[in-house]
Amino acid sequence: MGSQTKYVFVTGGVTSSLGKGIIAASLAKLLQARGYSVTIQKLDPYINVDPGTLNPYEHGECFVTEDGAETDLDLGHYERFLNVETSQANNVTTGRIYQSVINKEREGAFLGKTVQVIPHITDEIKRRIKILGNTGKYDIVITEIGGTVGDIESLPYIEAVRQLKWEPGFDCIVLHLTLVPFLATSGELKTKPTQHSVKSLLESGVQPDILALRTEHKLNEGVKEKVALFCNIAPKAVIEAIDADTIYDVPLLMQEEELDKVVLDKLHMEYKNEPSLNEWNQFLSKLKHPKQEINIGLVGKYIELKDSYKSIAEALIHAGASNETKVNIKWIHSESVNEGNAAEKLKNLDGILVAPGFGERGIEGKISTVKYAREQKVPFLGICLGMQCAVIEFARNVLGFKDAHSTEMEANTEHPVIYLMEEQRNITDKGGTMRLGAYPCQVKDGSKAFDAYQQKDIAERHRHRYEFNNKYLSEFEQAGMHATGINPDNNLVEIVEIENHPWFVGVQFHPEYKSTVLAPHPLFKEFIKASTTVKEKQLSANNY
Ligand code: GLN
Repeated sequence: MGSQTKYVFVTGGVTSSLGKGIIAASLAKLLQARGYSVTIQKLDPYINVDPGTLNPYEHGECFVTEDGAETDLDLGHYERFLNVETSQANNVTTGRIYQSVINKEREGAFLGKTVQVIPHITDEIKRRIKILGNTGKYDIVITEIGGTVGDIESLPYIEAVRQLKWEPGFDCIVLHLTLVPFLATSGELKTKPTQHSVKSLLESGVQPDILALRTEHKLNEGVKEKVALFCNIAPKAVIEAIDADTIYDVPLLMQEEELDKVVLDKLHMEYKNEPSLNEWNQFLSKLKHPKQEINIGLVGKYIELKDSYKSIAEALIHAGASNETKVNIKWIHSESVNEGNAAEKLKNLDGILVAPGFGERGIEGKISTVKYAREQKVPFLGICLGMQCAVIEFARNVLGFKDAHSTEMEANTEHPVIYLMEEQRNITDKGGTMRLGAYPCQVKDGSKAFDAYQQKDIAERHRHRYEFNNKYLSEFEQAGMHATGINPDNNLVEIVEIENHPWFVGVQFHPEYKSTVLAPHPLFKEFIKASTTVKEKQLSANNY
């Protein structure tokens, strides 16, 4: 299959944030549902080697793959839509491209030649693009090019696409996503930005094969025909990409527009089966017709940019649908919570999730939130730093170690209940030096975690430096906080729970990365279930 792998390049024009990732994932979903094996790759034109060092305010969440790559959040969409894992090879940045080329230059691999953008950088881009196809695992690779056509930093990528379009034996097409704005004053949809964007691609020598037009209003045939005429494209290859209620509607909208068929025609591939989307539709129907609703507080410090918690928000949607429950996320800034106002700020929540994070800011708000959830018996899920806060809170308020802390925030605390292990201590580099990717964990029988997973051996993805300090484990256990998930290789505590609470679970790993539409994450499902049960109990208690 390898040599015949075909490629769809997805580019964007006019503005950023048009949803190339969702269009790519939706197309992949449809092709997968027809029986093709598909993967999606993202090429990011920034110079960071990976997004691991980027502030979430700048670029949203950093998604972590099973093999430990810190990647763009679009890879999360790919996994959620396709239910197939991505890997290191699925995300490439300009930083990584240059790093490889410069390393080769230092090794003398270019034999004294002048190293240039063309051909050396473009060759490395093409090599990275072909890696997934060369595995022989995929019929089709969809490669999304980040940024907007016309940006200086995107040029080498567009040039690589141009070269590949002319490479003998390399079968590919280009799908270009643009915006058709609606001018309210004249009541018109405008095609000029699309025409300009296609012109800009043409100046780089690339004729798009398919255009997807993002729009707030339905496009009439006139608009499609006009775009087709000006942009050298058949009218049926002009696809309407109308705003949707939820991103999970987009595959169905693309199916109505026959995007999958147009792509297969252009790639000279057969349609195979009609896409079978039964499970997908069942999910959508549960999502749209919930039987109840609950409020979940998401406490974090990056809430101004909701994309910082993308996978958590989506995992809550998946778990809500599987419980036929609408989950209203109440975004709460950790800096706004303190012991004095926690009861007021957190009232009316049916469940509380304390989010992952790094550094000191907002930490005391998170700890006060945990205290409230523990004492008021509100279902609680703590993820990574959220779990560490649960440990610190328990140490301070139950074990009585008033100064207990993580050495990340307080290097000299007398009670370092969360600390840096020896191997991590001498690392000064910031990129890629954390515990990253999937690690095994053994779940204890009889725990809430076991109820959720229904199995002992699990593997979950990590992204952190600090760990539970096992020196204190027996004291925690005696006082009622139990380690219910342990890494069998090194005894690290991966899950904690407390007794006498309806549902209080803290996890050192990130379950949100593994939640998909067809396989909502068991811990999120149980967290939502516990939150609805507690709410129902309270409602019936209030009625008597
Ligand atoms: N800052 C913490 C650590 O490095 C937690 C990281 C996280 O929440 N992802 O251990």
